[in-house]
Amino acid sequence: MSQNKGFTGSRKLDQIVAEARSKREDREKGYRGQALKMYPWICGRCSREFTHTNVHELTVHHRDHDHDNNPEDGSNWELLCIYCHDNEHSRYIEEERYGGGSNVGGKSNISTSKPFSVLKSLLKDDDSK
Ligand SMILES: [Zn+2]
Ligand SMILES: [Zn+2]
Repeated sequence: MSQNKGFTGSRKLDQIVAEARSKREDREKGYRGQALKMYPWICGRCSREFTHTNVHELTVHHRDHDHDNNPEDGSNWELLCIYCHDNEHSRYIEEERYGGGSNVGGKSNISTSKPFSVLKSLLKDDDSK
């Protein structure tokens, strides 16, 4: 009797965990698959082209940074290579830091990311305001 109880109990938990995991994976696979079908396999920042052999380095970025906002027309998605994606997110955090906080120290930390942003602005000189 107790054996039966324990069996069903752990099985239920396993099932819940497995279901939750596969649901999340499904959703991620879902929008990634959709985005890869919808857009050419090119990084939206550095224009690097991707093929089946290296497409795993191409990521789906959410323009509004909300991973739950997945409209079917793909308007919130942007394909970025892992490097540009990384850069996009660190820039976002920096903007938030500069915009929100007024007198926060730690300039030495920020200077490490400067060469990258300088390089980026050199590459993006056609983007005039
Ligand atoms: Zn890129
Ligand atoms: Zn992103």
